[in-house]
Amino acid sequence: STAPSLTLNNGVRMPQLGFGVWQVPDEEATAVVSDALEAGYRSIDTAAVYQNEEGTGKALAASGIPRDELFVTTKLWNSASETWTRENVLREFDASLNRLGLDYVDLYLLHWPRAMRDDYLTILRTFAEIAESGRARAIGVSNFQPAHLERLIAETSVVPAVNQIELHPYLQQAELRARHAEHGIVTEAWSPLGQGRELLNDETVTRLAAKHGRTPAQIVLRWHLQLGNVAIPKSVTPSRIRENFDVFGFQLDEEDIKALAVLDNGTRLGPDPDEFD
Ligand code: NAD
Repeated sequence: STAPSLTLNNGVRMPQLGFGVWQVPDEEATAVVSDALEAGYRSIDTAAVYQNEEGTGKALAASGIPRDELFVTTKLWNSASETWTRENVLREFDASLNRLGLDYVDLYLLHWPRAMRDDYLTILRTFAEIAESGRARAIGVSNFQPAHLERLIAETSVVPAVNQIELHPYLQQAELRARHAEHGIVTEAWSPLGQGRELLNDETVTRLAAKHGRTPAQIVLRWHLQLGNVAIPKSVTPSRIRENFDVFGFQLDEEDIKALAVLDNGTRLGPDPDEFD
């Protein structure tokens, strides 16, 4: 089976379920991404800072899957001790393309706003140039808070196609999702499984798993899909990679969705985007 897709604000289609490769060492990435492609995933989420673009690219090339059936995301790590300029954004983008062995990516994201550096407007204007050149089919942001989105949209003509944010039943991000809906931005959930910690042992999640004859991870992924999110679960275990993709054959009902809605308790597993530098 294939994952359903969403239409981004520039008309590009993006699979709603993808595969994340954070913390997968480069030397394991080829085998792990190959397993994911084998299981049916066509969307892969990597980043320059994950240091596995090369291993990921090798799996894409070896798969024999036509390029236009793949959806490859990578991200700019704007962490150097400098303020970013157009030139170093273009240089970093080229370096990512080279490591991936691709001549375009499907989605290029700014990894963190780092608003204290005051350079995300320059970075996104440069991303728009990259998109115009055809080397990124869509551009977007990650870890942007409402204020960052509002400033970007007010001061540039760039409306990101996607904002990739921490989102799971313990951190449902209602405010950001509402802003995204207003601007036609797709919400992409990182750590969609809550990093496989307490969430997958949560009483409500395990009750719904028993009710549907599914696993806790499948319940949580189904919740993301029905909410309209893109989700990019990560695993290096072949059976879990397959399990996480096998979520298209059942539905949560209204009561299930209500039971999951009340789990929101503001738990962040990652850094606060307003402070992270
Ligand atoms: P996740 O929520 O996808 O959880 C992954 C972990 O959950 C695995 O390592 C494993 O321990 C466990 N797990 C996976 N499948 C399972 C299953 N079926 N049953 C039981 N346990 C299971 O967490 P993540 O890796 O943090 O996030 C996913 C992806 O999101 C990353 O790989 C990366 O691509 C992206 N991400 C982006 C940012 C960002 O700042 N933009 C930050 C973190 C992650």
